[in-house]
Amino acid sequence: MVYGNGNACRHQKLAHSKINRIWYIEVNDSRRNIPMTAEFKNELVLDFSQESNRKKQEEALALVQSQLGSEHDLIIGAERVQSTKTFKSINPGKKSEVVGIFQSATPEQALHAIEVAARTFGQWKKAPVQERADVLFRAAEILRARRFENNAWLILESGKTWVEADADTAEAIDFCEFYGLEALRYAGPQPLTPLKGEDNELRYIPLGVGAVIPPWNFPCAILVGMTTAALVAGNTVVLKPSSDTPAIGAFFMRILQEAGMPPGVVNYVTGSGATIGNMIVAHPKIRFVSFTGSKEVGLHIVEEAARPRPGQIWIKRVVAEMGGKDFIIVNEDADLDAALAGAIASAFGFQGQKCSACSRLIIHEKVYSAFVARLAERVKEIKVGPATDPSSYMGPVINESAMKSILQYIEIGRKEGKLVAGGRPAEGDGFYLEPTVIVDVDPSARIAREEIFGPVLAVLKAKDFEDAIRIANDSEYGLTGSVYCRDRTLVRRAKEECHVGNLYINRKCTGALVGVHPFGGFNMSGTDSKAGGRDYLLLFTQAKAISEKL
Ligand code: NAD
Repeated sequence: MVYGNGNACRHQKLAHSKINRIWYIEVNDSRRNIPMTAEFKNELVLDFSQESNRKKQEEALALVQSQLGSEHDLIIGAERVQSTKTFKSINPGKKSEVVGIFQSATPEQALHAIEVAARTFGQWKKAPVQERADVLFRAAEILRARRFENNAWLILESGKTWVEADADTAEAIDFCEFYGLEALRYAGPQPLTPLKGEDNELRYIPLGVGAVIPPWNFPCAILVGMTTAALVAGNTVVLKPSSDTPAIGAFFMRILQEAGMPPGVVNYVTGSGATIGNMIVAHPKIRFVSFTGSKEVGLHIVEEAARPRPGQIWIKRVVAEMGGKDFIIVNEDADLDAALAGAIASAFGFQGQKCSACSRLIIHEKVYSAFVARLAERVKEIKVGPATDPSSYMGPVINESAMKSILQYIEIGRKEGKLVAGGRPAEGDGFYLEPTVIVDVDPSARIAREEIFGPVLAVLKAKDFEDAIRIANDSEYGLTGSVYCRDRTLVRRAKEECHVGNLYINRKCTGALVGVHPFGGFNMSGTDSKAGGRDYLLLFTQAKAISEKL
């Protein structure tokens, strides 16, 4: 982040005690020192070809590995709470490795968290916006300073390769800084049409207590973005992380506490989505639900939240970002080298487990055969292995049930098309799968329509550009898509006709950047909230218009 005339970070002294590994931060009245002219800049991802970065990442992995297996409590207000039951989070790349032991919150504990969040809302909503934004700016600074450690948690708990883990951390830093600045912008005067004889103003005020329910696939960035947007707008939060990646959420909770977040603003409640997640969503004191995950769970939450419960005095707001069946179109005139690189990165980066991952490759028939041959050859060269090894391009998929489900889709795909690469589990003591390509798939095939959420790419042949757009749009989803094409008239057409929330031209369909590519999908992909965009904070506020007769 670049500031016009000064930087909050300059007024903060970040220190790290090597002896007890407690981080602390001294803030020299940064509240008055952050100028309103601050300008957002994306955090750059690290270059791991540099020896110094590789060494730091290895050291951080060793440090985090030495902390694995410890028990984590629920965090409700200022209390650390244990439950009667616990569950384990494991390393998907090494099944025998327990990342941490977590509490399965009881319904009473979840209820307590909602009560505490509701009480805290009374004070937090009155905190000056600068104070709330400062928590985010400091969190970004701490995350930046502990970047390699955060990456290590991502590598070990979610199976992200080094590069993918670092991109996740960088995005989380971006969310903190972007939403901090956005909160300051929304707190400023809002333009209204002047009326003689009246003084009019519009203020954005917070909503109340929110249920924040993120997925495991961007276990840092999405969790951080959803949580910080809600809290910086003045809301309090009950955060229920995914049971596959609770340690990454626990690490961010520590960062928020070190950044000066008062107790009770974010309450960390681990446990089953189907039981306590459901209960939190349905509770009458929950004012809004911020969810990112599958279509099935998202639709269920929309239904649950729509039903008013006794004592409820508002219509719950639901922000639900869901699945995708994202496409890349390769036209006959495309730069085929660029298209090949883009398709491989989009389909197999993080094992195809990004909501934006390309799972439908739609190729113009004139270049189809040659492109498919090159694709199969390249995919066979992809190195699958532990995410701890920096030379692995693909790590494991998230868990056993994901692995089984993906393998079942591959079996379906074998009947629906022709398998030209992959198709089997890969070697290793984890959930490893070969990158898989199935060609000659019909648009009506299940593998062309259903979200598989793994390293499986369905390849479809289009008669011409128009046919390619028709196939691309023939989906219940509408999240991301990409078009490789040189002809400017066709590019204009694609921009007009491809019905997705995030459309890319001549680049891959993954890798949205905060502030640059506001992110969110159409149709069954969600409520199009555009995370990382200038409209996002509005979703966590309500506007109060105040008119005074002069
Ligand atoms: P999921 O729907 O299984 O779970 C998401 C979260 O919901 C988890 O925290 C889970 O514990 C919780 N949950 C489950 N059942 C619940 C219930 N009944 N009530 C309340 N909470 C409940 O999704 P996942 O497997 O964690 O994530 C993968 C999915 O997320 C994919 O479909 C992917 O496309 C989607 N996703 C979408 C975006 C986007 O921006 N559109 C981003 C990332 C992931």
